[in-house]
Amino acid sequence: MTLWSDIAIQQFLAAIGKDLGPSGIDGELGDKGSDSYSRKAIASFQGDYGLDQDTIWGEQCQRKAKEILTNGIQLTANFNSSELGCGIAVSDDPNAPHDDDCMNWPDMINLTALNCLQATRDRIGPIQVTSGVRCRTYNDWLSGSSSESKHMAGRAFDCNAMGAVDYETLLQIGLECGFTWGYVGDGYVHLQYDGPSF
Ligand SMILES: [Zn+2]
Ligand SMILES: [Zn+2]
Repeated sequence: MTLWSDIAIQQFLAAIGKDLGPSGIDGELGDKGSDSYSRKAIASFQGDYGLDQDTIWGEQCQRKAKEILTNGIQLTANFNSSELGCGIAVSDDPNAPHDDDCMNWPDMINLTALNCLQATRDRIGPIQVTSGVRCRTYNDWLSGSSSESKHMAGRAFDCNAMGAVDYETLLQIGLECGFTWGYVGDGYVHLQYDGPSF
């Protein structure tokens, strides 16, 4: 199983309420077994689920994290993880192929990108995400998807405003709310964030 990046691991730990200390999400987990905030947060997570508290993010941690996200945790005021996973977003094809270890979460949703989505939602009302994070196999299976798609990094969302505003307006407001790029597709707006993660 491919493990998430250190930043993605920290974003998950933050999403479930673990204390990452004053430096927050900085991409630095600290040495294995040390008492860094991130290592203590991993140990705390491991303890919550009866895993060996060795502070090391391995397959067991990642499987449990994916299970938690699939079951659904509230990530922002209006967005739940269960609507953003690979193969489980509202327009995802349930019969599509996936990476063997996808488990709906090839990557964690980038929390900065998600905050842009929440800010957009705060401006215009309910937003339906039709496609969130994607594994390589699913992304490549979709017709017209870019082989470099930011969906694979949890940094892009295809969405609509449930008819409240037209696609061009949704795109414009999304860009005003922190997304760095986007386009109007056939029946959706693609919004992505390419800035730093933290
Ligand atoms: Zn997948
Ligand atoms: Zn897209």
